[in-house]
Amino acid sequence: MIIKNVKVVKDGQITEAEVEIEGSKIKKIGKSILSQDKILDGQGNLLLPGGVDNHVHIFKRYLKVPTSDTVRKSTIASAFGGTTTVIDFAFSDKSPNLDERISQFNESFTNYSFHIFANKVSENLKKDFERGFRSIKFMMIEYSGETGNLKGLKELNEFAKANNGYIMVHAEDEELINTLKDGRKGEPKLHLLTRPEETELSAVLRVNALVDKGLIAHVSCGKTLDLAKEGILAETTLHHLMLDKSVYDRKDAYLYVTSPPVRNPEEIWKRINKVHIIATDHNWFNKEVKGEHREFPDLVPGLPGVELRMEIIISEFIKRGLPLDLAIKLLSENPAKLNGLDTGKIQENYRADLVIYDLNKKWKISADNTHMADWTPYEGYEVIGKPKTVIINGEIVIENEELINDSFKGELLVNQNQDK
Ligand SMILES: [Zn+2]
Repeated sequence: MIIKNVKVVKDGQITEAEVEIEGSKIKKIGKSILSQDKILDGQGNLLLPGGVDNHVHIFKRYLKVPTSDTVRKSTIASAFGGTTTVIDFAFSDKSPNLDERISQFNESFTNYSFHIFANKVSENLKKDFERGFRSIKFMMIEYSGETGNLKGLKELNEFAKANNGYIMVHAEDEELINTLKDGRKGEPKLHLLTRPEETELSAVLRVNALVDKGLIAHVSCGKTLDLAKEGILAETTLHHLMLDKSVYDRKDAYLYVTSPPVRNPEEIWKRINKVHIIATDHNWFNKEVKGEHREFPDLVPGLPGVELRMEIIISEFIKRGLPLDLAIKLLSENPAKLNGLDTGKIQENYRADLVIYDLNKKWKISADNTHMADWTPYEGYEVIGKPKTVIINGEIVIENEELINDSFKGELLVNQNQDK
């Protein structure tokens, strides 16, 4: 198949290009490619690399309150929004482990990979590395009944260093949070009040001291971007860039609870050049599920986002006059590269995970016109553009905004740079 009549963003320029796809890979990028193959007319639209969401929690059944999605539902939503690869999580030493997660993702519509939750170096973790997984997720707060300690983090760092891995850290200072909580109960806003910026900053200092190659997950404040040392990269999320703390004054504030809380997005936007990845930390909880837990500290953290990340961030970059190639790096290229995945870039021999993106389409977000939860934190947001055609592993799965390949299944992706 050859995609003709599209524009690609390269080195700050938008240029015309043609892309030849053979099997699941990009074979050639050029002009006037001759072939007897099927031709896909891009109608002058932009061709983007498929999005890579570095941080999702799909079909999360291992915490107190399960998410309201299925793997199929969240990954179809993801594809509609142009994200063709999602990276979720598996535990090294408890259930669901890698094998269990892989079998759950057997029905995934998009490509998928996993970060490995670990709080110590174990035989299981070593095996997971042997299978080509290279990122360790370390929780500095209680999660699924366990808390990581700093000694464990230090050991994991040595292990990651010796095995070409990196550590993705949930950086919040649990002792400080618990001290501030001090038995308080009541309005959802207490979630914000007991997690001031200092609870993230204090944790980031520890990461600086203990980790050589790392990624701070879901950065919630601008100061973190100034504080993180070289080698410690930053992932922020759609909601930390798009929602501010005033949501915790709303009547339905319980819906907006997420950890760390949203604060002052402009402080992150000001330092967008220091951000390495924009992810979502996607958690699909329907209204009713969140509504059963409205009082602090019995709240359900997590926001739906996987479908809207590309559309909102691209719109926001255009509205703010920021370069589109930076958006593409943060949404696709950087997360793929960090995890050694052969996607996220329009380049020969990379996976043909591609999105024909119609920048002329203007529309408003509502829960009704998305494929995620029965509510959206971005209600009313004015979007510039929409994925018109989505290609995963060389196959057209969405055409003219319609799902055309119902039975399609994505593939498990593992790190390709295992010896380096
Ligand atoms: Zn998360």
